[in-house]
Amino acid sequence: MSDRGSKIDEFIKLFLNAIEVEKSRRGLPLITDEKTNDPLFFDQRELRLRYLLPIKGIEDFFEGLVKGEVRYTRCKRCGRKYFPPQPDCSSCGTREMEWMRIEGTGELLTFSKVVVKPTSYLHYDDYIVGVARFPEGFNVLAWVRASDVSELEMGTPVRIEVERRQPENYLTYVLVPTKLGD
Ligand SMILES: [Zn+2]
Repeated sequence: MSDRGSKIDEFIKLFLNAIEVEKSRRGLPLITDEKTNDPLFFDQRELRLRYLLPIKGIEDFFEGLVKGEVRYTRCKRCGRKYFPPQPDCSSCGTREMEWMRIEGTGELLTFSKVVVKPTSYLHYDDYIVGVARFPEGFNVLAWVRASDVSELEMGTPVRIEVERRQPENYLTYVLVPTKLGD
């Protein structure tokens, strides 16, 4: 088994062990959320979900990530820009799109530290999600590379970078605060 797989499995195992202890103690899979102290019922039926998302028409986006670029599409006819990229223009209906790289410096509009996470994100440390406005004319929603929200404010300049998300070890994009003069 790969490193990432074993790390996630280890986390799940700890979690499941705690549930087993509770079930033999009182007969109920009840636990307390560490962060909020709220009581939780842990459903004893398991549902494994892995989505397969069609990417036909936006393969260039993924090619871009491999090359360290985050790309958007621009309509050749009306000039409208799309991020996440669209293979056709919903404004004028054409499929004549061109691929461009996000190069500008964005401005952080809003951000939030995620402490109470969705189930499939439980194995991550607390992370910061933000929305930035880019001069290209669209907003980008992504994780923000910062150790704490105190490092950020509305209007903080950010660039978009490609990084490997761990422990899954795949390429994705992240907003990175820049210092003035960067
Ligand atoms: Zn168009």
